[in-house]
Amino acid sequence: MIKFYTLDICVWKEVCMGGFFGVVSKNECKYDLFFGIDYHSHLGTRRGGMAMYGSRGFDRAIHNIQNSPFRTKFEKDVADFDGRSGIGCISDYEPQPLLIQSHLGSYAIATVGRINNLDELVRNAFAVGKTQFLEMSGSNINPTELVASIINQKDSFAEGLAFAEEVIDGSMSILILTEKGLYAARDLYGRTPIMLGVNESTGSYCVSFESFAYINLGYKDKKELGPGEIVFVTAEGFETVRPAQETMKICTFLWIYYGYPTSTYEGVNVEQMRNECGRLLAQRDDAAADLVAGVPDSGTAHAIGYSNASGIPFARPFIKYTPTWPRSFMPADQSQRDLIARMKLIPVDALIRGKSLLLIDDSIVRGTQMRETTEFLYESGAREVHIRPACPPLLYGCRFLNFSRSSSEYDLITRRIIKEREGEDVSDEVLSDYADPDSVNYREMVDEIRKQLNFTSLRFNRLDDMTQAVGISRDKLCTYCWDKRGCCSGGCKGC
Ligand code: SF4
Repeated sequence: MIKFYTLDICVWKEVCMGGFFGVVSKNECKYDLFFGIDYHSHLGTRRGGMAMYGSRGFDRAIHNIQNSPFRTKFEKDVADFDGRSGIGCISDYEPQPLLIQSHLGSYAIATVGRINNLDELVRNAFAVGKTQFLEMSGSNINPTELVASIINQKDSFAEGLAFAEEVIDGSMSILILTEKGLYAARDLYGRTPIMLGVNESTGSYCVSFESFAYINLGYKDKKELGPGEIVFVTAEGFETVRPAQETMKICTFLWIYYGYPTSTYEGVNVEQMRNECGRLLAQRDDAAADLVAGVPDSGTAHAIGYSNASGIPFARPFIKYTPTWPRSFMPADQSQRDLIARMKLIPVDALIRGKSLLLIDDSIVRGTQMRETTEFLYESGAREVHIRPACPPLLYGCRFLNFSRSSSEYDLITRRIIKEREGEDVSDEVLSDYADPDSVNYREMVDEIRKQLNFTSLRFNRLDDMTQAVGISRDKLCTYCWDKRGCCSGGCKGC
């Protein structure tokens, strides 16, 4: 009987974030826009979109990118487009960018974020005036259209953007393309990044979620927007429309998992942070494995750091087949994703048979895939499989970003085990005891995960080590997934 296994972490921790990119230039800039958006393809798998302001006014294209990469899908559109300014995005939820006509003028808008109080905001919009929304499938309202309607309630883009940031519960970073230039607004607590780049030789500015997306296009870093900061950008320069606020809660998972290795947030490069994270993990460990491996892709840099610190050789006992399986090819259907995941990764028998393997993954969510991976390694002849997640046990679902499609915290293996031990109603106090790496509850929960997933040993990274690896003040990081801290400094709807 042929048995298939799924090895790709991305399948069940699929990134549903989205990202955006915008350019404004003294010259034609459609290819800067095209490649800049394409470099955000790791942040989503469903839709891509681009809008430009050119000789025909606003032009826009949106495509499904589930079965084909962004570049392939937009090749023809970009050839037809023209203009000196544009925005675009990768979006796993609503189609965008949207083209809006309002009393503020015509504009295109793209967003990255999550709205928890969508119904309330829709009710408010109806109460304010004769608002209407285009209905999407399933009677849903397009959240980006809702953001536009909130902005339109004010007398200027600056006021409207600030108002949207104020009333949205969740997080919302916004890009707006007008005839005169671009507005970029980073979400109020800076959970997601926005970088401003400049290319002096072409007279262009770009605005980007990922800081690496413009390097090969000849841009240099100009400025990282602060939390809640709003800027207006033209080909001549930029002006701050609203200054950054003091409180920041940037998402720690950017470094742990979904940020691209070449990106830098708040001055900290993702690859370097992962190396450091692995180093700190190794410092507290005493496993005697034959080799250290990372679950591709995000586990690899953590594993390199671990290997360098521990002296245990780094190796790749399974390798991704990249020529025909780009990461962006990840359909929404679970069975198709499972199939693609197992087709993408190929085992190396010589590095598995008879070996004691130490495998580093960025995190454990449900545990299903790590159990299957471990089973696969045992059946391929591995003697031992030691698992070392680069972050602590996940105890809470993200309520700030569309980080995962999961809708229940009981998808988390930790919460299922805690439920078995404590019942349905578990207080925050009890949960925080399970988050404490020195508690008995923590130790027993980790051992139960180890038994259920059939690992030889399991040791999670500690929260203090993980945040130390980032290296910025702990107060500026969102660590809500692990300890329910990171909501804000008080006073928001999530506290
Ligand atoms: S809850 Fe987790 S995934 Fe969400 S913003 Fe905070 S650290 Fe990031």
